[in-house]
Amino acid sequence: AIILGIETSCDETAAAIVVRDQFGHSTIRSNVVRSQLDEHAAFGGVVPELAARAHVTYLDHIIAQACREADIALADIDAIAATAGPGLVGGVLVGLTTAKALAAALDKPLLAINHLEAHALTARMTDGVAFPYLMLLVSGGHSQFVLVRGVGDYERWGTTIDDALGEAFDKVAKLLTLGHPGGPAVEAVARQGDPRRFKFPRPLLREARLDFSFSGLKTAVRLQAEALAPLSDQDVADIAASFQATVAEIIAFRSTQALQRFKAELPDAKPQLVVAGGVAANRTIASALSTACQAEGAALIVPPIALCTDNGAMVAWAGAERFALGVRDPLDVTARPRWPLDLPDMKVATNVT
Ligand code: ATP
Ligand code: MG
Ligand code: FE
Repeated sequence: AIILGIETSCDETAAAIVVRDQFGHSTIRSNVVRSQLDEHAAFGGVVPELAARAHVTYLDHIIAQACREADIALADIDAIAATAGPGLVGGVLVGLTTAKALAAALDKPLLAINHLEAHALTARMTDGVAFPYLMLLVSGGHSQFVLVRGVGDYERWGTTIDDALGEAFDKVAKLLTLGHPGGPAVEAVARQGDPRRFKFPRPLLREARLDFSFSGLKTAVRLQAEALAPLSDQDVADIAASFQATVAEIIAFRSTQALQRFKAELPDAKPQLVVAGGVAANRTIASALSTACQAEGAALIVPPIALCTDNGAMVAWAGAERFALGVRDPLDVTARPRWPLDLPDMKVATNVT
């Protein structure tokens, strides 16, 4: 099937055309992403009203471009998938309403996609990963472990109780005046730094649950920066490197625990850890994860970074997987700013692997 995917839940206006054949193989025919970094840069974060307006301005053009690059006419599309949540409701409404209008005008089925499901299924599109697997989603808005048993069949094993990991990178970058988005900036200066100079706390790690907490760590980083002020370039690099080493250790430690639980609860399954979200780009974290997976005899799957961050192809793919299972959503489906993955209404009647 040929699926158009639309993503507008945060600060990326994105559209893509993905083809899924009857064997479950994918071809990304186009994947157009317009990031709004410039619009929000001056504010140090995403401004919801500005984001929604930018989606209104650009989405039509992005969809047209996705069709053009794919060399596929709107009439040839089999279904239209759009993110229906979770996310900033103004943006979600722009994408979802556009998808509804296209579905009505073209008389094609609509698929209302959970953004987290799109992240969760991406590795099946890029790497053909079979169910079940453990997903670690680490982005600007989310940090969670999800057991992915099948399309629509998710169990959340842990989450952050305060900040998301990408958010922690962004806040640390801000207090070190490294700019936005913070992840790449922190990683760049950390290369010149000493990761052992500062010992930062690892909140919650003593507790057995698979949750994260990054807000106390961020405060410890701030207090350290204040104590040393004014900061030399070396101080900044050392703080960034020590922070990054600490979060890498936290992520690897929790992933080890999550994989151990996976092996205990699903003894017949091959242990696999799939990473999603923009923080997957971080080399220090990726290498800590790779060590952890090796020690647990688990496969580590990290899709190409352009597909780990928000994009239309992942939404199209989630739509394709649902479409293949017979899912069709009504045109009056609503946008859902909050929409956890493990709600029963995510479930699909038939499940295949
Ligand atoms: P969500 O998908 O949760 O709605 P989002 O759009 O903010 O939120 P992504 O686009 O997946 O999430 O990722 C962006 C986040 O990833 C930012 O917080 C950014 O700082 C972080 N990030 C990007 N590159 C790196 C890196 N190299 N190291 C650490 N963090 C990074
Ligand atoms: Mg983003
Ligand atoms: Fe996302």
